[in-house]
Formats: sequence, structure tokens, C-alpha cells
Amino acid sequence: MMLEDLRCAVAEANRALVEHQLVTLTWGNVSGIDRDKGLFAIKPSGVPYDRLSPGDIVLVDMEGRVADGALKPSSDTPTHLRLYQRFGDIGGVTHTHSAYATALSQARVELPCLGTTHADHFMGTVPCTRQLTPDEVDAGYEIATGDAIVERFQRAPDPLDPTRIPAVLVAGHAPFTWGKDASESVTNSVALEACARMAILSGLLPPGEPRALEPHILKKHHDRKHGPGAYYGQTHRPGL
Ligand code: 13P
Repeated sequence: MMLEDLRCAVAEANRALVEHQLVTLTWGNVSGIDRDKGLFAIKPSGVPYDRLSPGDIVLVDMEGRVADGALKPSSDTPTHLRLYQRFGDIGGVTHTHSAYATALSQARVELPCLGTTHADHFMGTVPCTRQLTPDEVDAGYEIATGDAIVERFQRAPDPLDPTRIPAVLVAGHAPFTWGKDASESVTNSVALEACARMAILSGLLPPGEPRALEPHILKKHHDRKHGPGAYYGQTHRPGL
């Protein structure tokens, strides 16, 4: 993909956050990476989505330095960088402050799989990170946020596969999602917000204690969309 195409795709993915009602003000950012060129394209910080053109999108190298662009990149750029560095299969990252997923992040509650809607998208509980220490925040808040996400996915004894659970709740902050490209990372934010909303509503219904979806149903639903014999949709590509 040409870098101009990547900039267009990232601008469009950022504007899609508004269309999907995932952002308030400028509380969110999307990026997409060209791994061959070692560059990722990300939203400029604080710029309203309706004023965002492909030329505003900032190109950043794998050291976190601006490679091209007149505007300052998102304040969350180091978090996106760390996710690209540590999760080698991902091509896009989305961060929002969507209400229900952020409510769980603020409550520091993981999002359990309560039903097939969730299983269709996320292979089990969407995890929540630990809170950062004052020293970590002082040393580099945004990169430490990325490190805390990676640490949560690598946590023994049950490490998580970021390609099967493409989402995280950052404690006291908000969600990040990722995908094969910028557009798919936005789709995963849409799914996360819907699942978070349904889980919170499920907790309001009697008997009051949401029950986890049985593991065999969870596996069936996830695998029919994402497993080796996936048969959901018109092609065997997730999301179609
Ligand atoms: P930026 O405008 O710098 O991308 O920040 C948005 C945000 O959501 C901060 O968490």
C-alpha cells in the first residue's frame, strides 16, 4: 500500500469513530501501520474528526519519531507504537473513550464472555490492565500504558492471544482495540462497546449475577468465525 493510501485509510477510520458514536469531542484516535516501510500513520492530537483530511495524518517511525506531517501526533502515539512492536500480527490500533467500555475500565472490571455476541468476536474475557505506578507514569506514561497492556496479555499462567482477543480495558482510562488494519481495529471497538453495554445490562437483570457462557458454546461461536474451519459470512475472512 502506498503511504498516501494508508493516510486516506487512517483518516477514514478516524472519521468512522464519529459515525459509530464511539467518541465524544476528540477523545479517541486510530492508527494503521505499513510494516514493510516501518511507519505507522496516526491521527493528529486534538484535531476534530470532521476537519481531518489525509494530509493531516502524521507518519511515525518505529522509534516513535515523526517521519512526516505538519501536526503533532496523538498523545497516545507511544501506546500505539508499543502495541505494534510487541503484537507483530496487528496492522491497526483504535483507542476510544466509548461510554460502556470506559465504564468497565474505570471500574477496573474485566469483561467476561456472557453470551454468543461476545463469543463471535472475542475468544473469552476481555482483560483489564493493572494500574500504573507513579514512577512508571513519570518515566513515560503512554509507553508504560502499552507495556501494561502487553504485560496483561503475557501474564502467567494463562497468557492471552492478542489476535483472538483484539481488545483491552486500560484500568482507570479506557479501551484499546486492534485488528489487521485500521478499519478492522475500529470494527473491534464497535463490537467491544456493544458487548460491554450488553454485559452491564445483563448484570441488571435477575438473578443479578451474570453467568459465564459455557466454554463449548464460546469455542463454537468463536471458531465458526475465526477458527481454521471458519464458515461464517461470504468468504472465510473475519468480519465479512
Ligand atoms: P489525542 O487527541 O492526543 O489523540 O488524545 C485523545 C485521547 O483519547 C486521549 O486519551
